[in-house]
Amino acid sequence: MRKKTAVVTGGAGFLGSHLCDRLVAEGFKVLCLDNLITGESKNIAHLKNDPDFTFIKHNVTSYIGIKGKVDHILHFASPASPVDYLKYPIQTLKVGSLGTHNALGLAKEKKAKFMLASTSEVYGDPLIHPQTESYWGNVNPVGLRGCYDEAKRFAEAITMAYHRVHKIDTRIIRIFNTYGPRMRMNDGRVIPNFIYQIKIDKPITVYGRGKQTRSFCYVSDLIEGIFRLMSESFNEPVNLGNPKEFTIYELAKLILRLTKSKSRIVFRPLPEDDPKQRKPDIARAKRLLSWQPKIGLEQGLKSTIEWFGLKRP
Ligand code: UDP
Repeated sequence: MRKKTAVVTGGAGFLGSHLCDRLVAEGFKVLCLDNLITGESKNIAHLKNDPDFTFIKHNVTSYIGIKGKVDHILHFASPASPVDYLKYPIQTLKVGSLGTHNALGLAKEKKAKFMLASTSEVYGDPLIHPQTESYWGNVNPVGLRGCYDEAKRFAEAITMAYHRVHKIDTRIIRIFNTYGPRMRMNDGRVIPNFIYQIKIDKPITVYGRGKQTRSFCYVSDLIEGIFRLMSESFNEPVNLGNPKEFTIYELAKLILRLTKSKSRIVFRPLPEDDPKQRKPDIARAKRLLSWQPKIGLEQGLKSTIEWFGLKRP
């Protein structure tokens, strides 16, 4: 029987590379596209000699030409950490808009199923809590985070338009803060940042008073949710994340405890438009996919800390 082919854009990134692993393990042929501006070759180095895996260095902002049959397109290409998308605001806007358009064009051409990696950032600094998929969000379009938030909101809109007009079988996942091995230590997101600061014996930087909240999902839980949704024909957005909510101050204390670190906590100004609270309502994913996260924060952090320990910068 012919193996199914999946194209993963952003396949050398943190989530993209875990997805490539899972797809190869499930018997797919995987075409991994990445321009490596925030993705890294070392994330996929172990797949290089696998006959079912092909890496193509390509910026999906330009036309995507693929020969042969494609069954699934998983569009994960984008800078995704606030530090990265502040550094690459135009690339972020282009990959969310032009890149999504090209990936959808490929889906139309190949009659493939399409999945968009969207984000909890579409809810902006949310005024309802926890966030349900029916909430339209509170985004500042001209703020520093606007490049990411609006690109993903556009990406959702064009995905629905292709679904409605061209009848593409599309899925939209809204990914909440996810962490685990293969995050870049310098990507600026809170978990790698705290671990990195502890590793180099620097104080850990809590922004604001650390009262803002986030809900952290371990990467294997997220990948399981994504994989389950691939075989469900559900076209409305689905939140994927771990609903257990922590303040950033609590997170800092927990990481200090788990690393037995003596580093101090220092407080730094809160970045512009930093959401005050974030927690997914995952009722839809639970009902649709019989899915919920299994790995608690302490367990996931232990694995992440260990992984970062092995990969000293
Ligand atoms: N944060 C922090 N110290 C850091 C990095 C981040 O206090 O060194 C805070 C940040 O202000 C935000 C939260 O941690 O409130 C999560 O930040 P992250 O960059 O991981 O992603 P976000 O959820 O904001 O997209």
